[in-house]
Amino acid sequence: MRKRSPGVFFVICGPSGAGKTTLLNRLRKRFPDLHYVPSYTSRPPRSAAERRAGRYHFVSLEEFQRLIRQRAFLEYAQYAGNYYGTVRALVNDHLRAGRDVIKEADVQGMHQLRRHRLSGRLVGIFILPPSLDALEQRLNQRGTEDPEAQRRRLSAALDELGELHLFDYVVINRHLRESLERLSAVVHIERARRE
Ligand code: 5GP
Repeated sequence: MRKRSPGVFFVICGPSGAGKTTLLNRLRKRFPDLHYVPSYTSRPPRSAAERRAGRYHFVSLEEFQRLIRQRAFLEYAQYAGNYYGTVRALVNDHLRAGRDVIKEADVQGMHQLRRHRLSGRLVGIFILPPSLDALEQRLNQRGTEDPEAQRRRLSAALDELGELHLFDYVVINRHLRESLERLSAVVHIERARRE
């Protein structure tokens, strides 16, 4: 019997406010067999709804640092003052078993993942807002960050733009429906490549 190919590891990056979370949620609905791996973070939840949403596993700073010492993370980074990371065991088991994984990370995380020997093939997708003005507007409208935190997030977004070379695909999120079609096309193409 043919040996089962390892899974594809789709990593979605993009500044907060680019519409990444909405797109990811829609993509997960369309591809229920993509295994979504939540991130660990030391950032407090923005709301009770965010705590329930399953995008993050919220832990204290001490717990996060303990996990760093135990080498539990495949990658981790500090972003706008908080820690975020990918727990190794949650990803590798799926990939080895031939299951595709999807999760988000920032550019620093992507840098680290590119340096690893992973159990599957890494595919990086960067979601861009249509413009920086649009990003600023979305952050303002969301109203979940104070002005200082918003400023740090915009500055982090600018830094990330210099790192687009790390990614296999860039999707400019002008219209949700169109972006979803593009992301779906990426999933189909990458799945077809290994067959
Ligand atoms: P937010 O606080 O807006 O939810 O996330 C801030 C940034 O952290 C976003 O760019 C988000 O994609 C990124 N992020 C989320 N999970 C991870 C992770 O596991 N690792 C890394 N490196 N970044 C992450």
